[in-house]
Amino acid sequence: MTSELQVVVVGGGECGARVAHDLATSDLDARVVLVGREARAPYERPPLSKSVLVDDDPRPVEPYRDGRLDVERLEVLAGRTATSLDLEGRTVELDDGTRLGFDRLVLATGAQPRLLPGLPAAALTLRTFEDALVLRDALQPGAHLLVVGAGLVGLEVAASARTRGAQVTVVEAAERALGRAVPHPVARVLVERHEAEGVDLRLGTTVASASAGSGGWRVELSDGTSLAPDVVLQAVGSVPEVGLARDAGLEVDDGVVVDAAMRTSARGVWAAGDCCAGPVAVLGRRQRLESWRMAHDQAAVAAASVRGEEVSITAVPWFWSDQYDLSLQVSGMAAAATRWVERPRPDGTVVHLGLDADGVLVCAAGAGRAAVAKDVRMAERLVAAGARPDPDQLADPAVQLRSLLS
Ligand SMILES: Cc1cc2nc3c(=O)[nH]c(=O)nc-3n(C[C@H](O)[C@H](O)[C@H](O)COP(=O)(O)OP(=O)(O)OC[C@H]3O[C@@H](n4cnc5c(N)ncnc54)[C@H](O)[C@@H]3O)c2cc1C
Repeated sequence: MTSELQVVVVGGGECGARVAHDLATSDLDARVVLVGREARAPYERPPLSKSVLVDDDPRPVEPYRDGRLDVERLEVLAGRTATSLDLEGRTVELDDGTRLGFDRLVLATGAQPRLLPGLPAAALTLRTFEDALVLRDALQPGAHLLVVGAGLVGLEVAASARTRGAQVTVVEAAERALGRAVPHPVARVLVERHEAEGVDLRLGTTVASASAGSGGWRVELSDGTSLAPDVVLQAVGSVPEVGLARDAGLEVDDGVVVDAAMRTSARGVWAAGDCCAGPVAVLGRRQRLESWRMAHDQAAVAAASVRGEEVSITAVPWFWSDQYDLSLQVSGMAAAATRWVERPRPDGTVVHLGLDADGVLVCAAGAGRAAVAKDVRMAERLVAAGARPDPDQLADPAVQLRSLLS
C-alpha cells in the first residue's frame, strides 16, 4: 500500500513539461504522468518562426536537454490526447481508451492558431515543429508568401522569409502592426525595418476573398488589389485549448480561469500557460498571457501550489521578439499605460516607459540591437516594485534607472 499521490499533467509543451519536471523532482510524494498530444519530446516554440525557418538543419530545441525529463517518478505519455475529464471520479480519459486516475490535475494545454473564416484550408498555420517544417519548405528564394496578420508571429515569419529570399506581403486589418501589446512608436521601428527589407506591409487591409486550386492561390484584398501568392500563412492570433476544461464544467473565459495560485474553479485542478487566464497585477484584471517566460513563471507557481505551498503569481509579464537583427523587448503591460515617457539611449534607440493614471510604471518597451534589453530589464524591476518614478528622471538618460529603485 502506497500513500503516493498521482498527479496528471495534460499538455507536454513548455509549461506542462516544466510543471511535471518540477513536481517529479520535488519532495512531494507523488507519481507524475505527463500526457502530450504531440508525438515528440517537449520543445520550445519561439524558434519555430525564427531559426527553424532559416537554419540549414533545424532541430527542435528541448526545454529540458540532457534527458532531464527522464526522471524516476515521471512517466511521459507522448502522442496521446486527453479526451475527457471526470472530476467526480478523478479520472482523465485518453484517446486510446486509457483512464488515468488522479489526485491532482494540471491543465497546460496551450493554444491553437486562430483560423480566419473564409480562408481555404490550404492556408498554413504555425504552432508546431511540423508546421514550421512545412512553411520552411515553401519559403524557397523567389517564392511569394502572403502573411495574414501583422502580429508577432506574422512579422517574425516575414523577417525569416525575407532572410530566405522569399517575396513577402503582409496584410493587417488594423491600422497598426503588433496590436496593443506593443507601444505604437516601438511597433513603428519594426514596421520601418520590414519596409526597408522590402516587405510589402499593408495596414488597414483585409482579405476580401481567397481561393486555392490547381492554378494556385488567388487572393483579392480589400484595397482592391489581387495577389497570386505561392503560400499563405494565417497568423491572426491564437485561441486557448479549453475544450477539456469547458466540457468538465470548469470556469472558462478566454482561457481556463485561474486564481493567483493557478487554481481553477474545480478542487484539485490547476491550469497554467497559454491555456489559462488569471489575475495580472500590473493590469489590475484577469488576462490570458501568451509568452515563453510567463509559461515558466506560471509552471513554477502551479507546481508549488500543487505541493500545497501558499504561493501567488507576482511575475511581471515579459516577452521578446527577434526580427532581422532587431530585438523587441516588452516588460509589463502596455495596455495599462495612460502616458508614455521616452528615454533615449546612447545608440540612438529609445526605450518607451508607460505610466498608469496614478503615475505607477507599468510598462517598458523598446526595439533595437541587443543593448535595449538592458534598460527594459532594469525598468522591469521598477515595474515589479510598483515604483512611481519622476517622469523627468525617467526621460533623462543621465539618470540611472537603478537609482530610481530606492
Ligand atoms: C511560432 C511561435 C513563436 C513564438 N515566439 C515567442 C517569442 O519570441 N517570445 C515569447 O515570449 N513567446 C513566444 N511564443 C509563445 C510561447 O511559445 C508560448 O507562450 C508557450 O509555448 C506556451 O507554452 P504552453 O505549454 O502553455 O503551451 P504549448 O507550448 O502550446 O503546449 C501545449 C501542449 O499541449 C498539448 N495539448 C493540448 N491539448 C491536449 C490534450 N487534450 N491532451 C494532450 N495534450 C494536449 C498541445 O499539443 C501542446 O503540445 C511563440 C509561440 C509560437 C507558436
